[in-house]
Amino acid sequence: MKIVLLGPPGAGKGTQAKSISNRYSIPHISTGDIFRKNISENTPLGIEAKGYMDNGQLVPDEVTINMVKDRLQDEDCTSGYLLDGFPRTVAQANALNEFLISREEQLDTSLLIEVPIGFILERMTGRRVCPSCGASYHIKFNPPNNDGKCDLCGSEVIQRKDDTVETVKERLDVYENQTQPLIEFYKSKNLLSVVDGTKAINEVFKGICKVLGSND
Ligand code: ADP
Ligand code: ADP
Ligand code: ZN
Repeated sequence: MKIVLLGPPGAGKGTQAKSISNRYSIPHISTGDIFRKNISENTPLGIEAKGYMDNGQLVPDEVTINMVKDRLQDEDCTSGYLLDGFPRTVAQANALNEFLISREEQLDTSLLIEVPIGFILERMTGRRVCPSCGASYHIKFNPPNNDGKCDLCGSEVIQRKDDTVETVKERLDVYENQTQPLIEFYKSKNLLSVVDGTKAINEVFKGICKVLGSND
């Protein structure tokens, strides 16, 4: 199964991606996580990406597209993958499309987690993430069970540098201008499915399973 997750920052893509990846046994490929790993390892890619990310801007298409194409050719992607945070521009969506065509493959669906902008600020500023495994928590809606420690791997959860009010506003602008057009892009290809992302986390997952064809 090949799935693209769509939705504004804070929609719950990362949160749901962990569950989808487990349920359907496909790798969760988060471009944000890959960039953050490169930043923490101080690689040339990380150094290039950091300035854009800290300001809430997108990393340039060419860099991002090449990085994703490389990742999609890894062994674990042969039976499918879940893309989280990519594509984010029409150029990226076209590049993915061409990549798939060149391999005579196709997407199963692009899944929009629909959340009105009014929900986003609280979700983003209350977000805490695990720097080791990428798991996403929320101080109010989804706190870790064990006082500030990741449920999955025990690392101390942290607040992302770009989850401040100012940067979130910038990222929302970027989303509206550059990423929102992808909803039409996939709709016109008959590849768009939509779930209501305003419900509780487990309810959203149920909605996703329904769309993807599993009942529980
Ligand atoms: P969020 O969880 O808010 O959706 P991500 O972790 O997906 O954020 O992305 C964090 C940052 O990484 C983005 O603001 C952007 O700077 C960069 N980034 C991630 N994915 C892409 C992409 N597909 N194209 C360009 N930049 C990206
Ligand atoms: P994205 O990857 O789309 O940027 P995340 O999965 O990181 O979003 O979620 C953003 C924040 O909102 C996190 O703090 C997460 O715990 C919280 N969150 C995710 N889904 C829900 C939900 N359905 N209801 C309330 N809070 C949620
Ligand atoms: Zn963890």
